[in-house]
Amino acid sequence: MRATMMEEPLLIHRFLERAGRLFPEVEVVSRRPDGSLHRHRYGEFFARAHRLAAGLAAGGLDKGDRVATLLWNHHVHLEAYFGIPIRGGVVHTLNPRLAAEELAYIADHAQDRVLIVDEVLLSVLEGFRERAPFSRILVANRQGQALPAWAECYEEVLARAPQELVYSPAGEEDPVGMCYTSGTTGHPKGVVYSHRSTVLHALASALPDSVGLSHRDTVMPVVPMFHVNAWGLPYAAVMVGAKLVFPGPRLDASSLLELLEGEQVTVAAGVPTVWLRVLEALDAEPGRWRLHPELRLIVGGSAAPEAMIRGFDRHGVTVIHAWGMTEMSPLGTLCRLKREHQQADEDTRYRYRAMQGLPMPVVDMRIVDEKGEVGWDGRSMGELQVRGPCVARAYYKRPDAADAFTADGWFRTGDVAVITPEGYMKIADRTKDLVKSGGEWISSVDLENALMGHPQVAEAAVVAVPHPRWEERPLAVVVPRDPPPGVEELRAHLAARFPKWWLPDAILFVEEIPKSSTGKFLKRALRERFGRASWEELKAQEEEQQRRAEAG
Ligand code: ADP
Repeated sequence: MRATMMEEPLLIHRFLERAGRLFPEVEVVSRRPDGSLHRHRYGEFFARAHRLAAGLAAGGLDKGDRVATLLWNHHVHLEAYFGIPIRGGVVHTLNPRLAAEELAYIADHAQDRVLIVDEVLLSVLEGFRERAPFSRILVANRQGQALPAWAECYEEVLARAPQELVYSPAGEEDPVGMCYTSGTTGHPKGVVYSHRSTVLHALASALPDSVGLSHRDTVMPVVPMFHVNAWGLPYAAVMVGAKLVFPGPRLDASSLLELLEGEQVTVAAGVPTVWLRVLEALDAEPGRWRLHPELRLIVGGSAAPEAMIRGFDRHGVTVIHAWGMTEMSPLGTLCRLKREHQQADEDTRYRYRAMQGLPMPVVDMRIVDEKGEVGWDGRSMGELQVRGPCVARAYYKRPDAADAFTADGWFRTGDVAVITPEGYMKIADRTKDLVKSGGEWISSVDLENALMGHPQVAEAAVVAVPHPRWEERPLAVVVPRDPPPGVEELRAHLAARFPKWWLPDAILFVEEIPKSSTGKFLKRALRERFGRASWEELKAQEEEQQRRAEAG
């Protein structure tokens, strides 16, 4: 027997078409580098996405050609997200914070044929343009600089393009876009998303127990559009017809708070380091910004500390913890409490809310422990593996990286996690960041979050340092607030929460913790800086720091 339903492919074309027809009056607001706001409506977005598609086609874009973007978050980037794939092109977002060598490698590996670049990012392009394969470069958001001889003006390309609908026929397995992981080891690896995976991810992420999106929402992706498609939010927001607010390049706390207030944002998303700064600003001047009473922040990319979730609650802002990966489109889990946990006591509620959460309906998860045994029982800690229609089955042109995928069809996340009996997933660490002491694992994430729960700690990262007897021991690197806490006070703070053998052997203060191009703690840099020292030296540093503090 066969089902009698239409075999209409799942294409993102329909999101654009629906938004253009049903919500032409909904606004798209973008903050320019000078702080002024650009505003237009879905009606214009719809027309301009089609003109971009036509302009690319006029320049000879073939089906499957890669079109790279080197753009901040704004309306042009949104046009690229839709205008490129509706004409058969593949959006390849480049991260302007990467080194020129990496950008050259990625653009060459993807064989990007066209580039759309912000005028303010031309200096980044200069660093690798001659090594990149672009045959056409369009400069967007021009503010008066002369156009280089090798470039075209994005606005002129759109102005010249015919005003007609230019959807290319496509199958749901055809590519929409691609992203490269930041590649902490070896070369970055690319993932290619299909129409089908993009549509399913948008549908699943808009569900009330996921991000929870409606056309009445105002959505601000703070997470860059070059960081896994801003977690898919632009696709999901256009799908439901929500108002969009793009912050442009300035992500400091007061710029963000001004936008959150000015546009009455209801959903914003970004990494914890961004929101920690916002929380500090709110704490410093409570009541200064009148935020929307239903504002919720989707926080992921690295673990959201429980103290941060509590902190935002004090200002009436709800944090929703999320976990995902480039290889997963990227959302995997969101932490929405089940009924029984919503009714639990306050401490239990926060403990659960700080977990990474429940898998979206399109995601399967399992834990594989060190012996290779598969567990769902909530007790085993081990590698988290995932499967589903929005999960990559391979890396783009990287047969050497096939060991990330298991023979029985799962993707190995490289994260070590536990799944509680109720189904909540909790990340202990990235495999390479775990501290292995005397044959037992210590979770650096748990220690960091507890340290960041101390009122005099702004940021904390914990790394493993080799130890002659225990193999490895934890070192905590802390950015203190003023006045700095005493080291013994921090130890006592941890001792109340963890077994004694978990406590860091040294706690060192630094002015800043180095961050990756996507705003995560760069633990590799900390290991390079501290990992070669002996424990005697590290402890001597801690004592010296203590003496200086006591001397005032
Ligand atoms: P990269 O950081 O290498 O650029 P991704 O952005 O794909 O790549 O990062 C995915 C990784 O980020 C996950 O495997 C996990 O280690 C970490 N991560 C993401 N969200 C969370 C979270 N909520 N808690 C802890 N770790 C997280």
